[in-house]
Amino acid sequence: MTDCIFCKIINGDIPSYTVYEDDVVKAFLDISQSTPGHTLVVPKKHVKDMFEYDEDLAAAVFSRIPKIARAIKKSNPAIKGMNIVNNNGEVAYQSVFHSHIHLIPRYTTEDGFKMIFTDNGDKYDEAKYKEIQEAIIKQLEDEQ
Ligand code: AMP
Ligand code: ZN
Repeated sequence: MTDCIFCKIINGDIPSYTVYEDDVVKAFLDISQSTPGHTLVVPKKHVKDMFEYDEDLAAAVFSRIPKIARAIKKSNPAIKGMNIVNNNGEVAYQSVFHSHIHLIPRYTTEDGFKMIFTDNGDKYDEAKYKEIQEAIIKQLEDEQ
């Protein structure tokens, strides 16, 4: 796609600190370095978000994640863990609309990266959980 910053990086039109590349993905340092080593894994095929992946693309892209994650972790003994994050849609904090997976090394709980999972479980009863469960199952059955 001509007007896509990640397509430009993939094509070499914009420089990047690439750490891994093959026929399916390119992995390069995120310019923001939320924590040191913050890396993006980007499919070479332009897909906007996770909703556009087919099974083959998902299998190919996600099969690359563990080895890149391991390499980042092994590259620095101070890395104790890693958040692997994928944002889909503006409401979910996606800002570049060429799908990408963030690999964010974690050093301490005070290293500057935050993710908050609010626990709203006390606002749900059996019927509410079931209603949501069934709505999702119906969509999955329609996908077959
Ligand atoms: P998201 O908000 O999930 O869409 O993430 C987009 C990420 O792309 C942000 O973390 C940016 O820092 C990163 N980014 C934007 N432009 C570049 C660039 N030219 N090189 C590397 N990372 C970039
Ligand atoms: Zn693109």
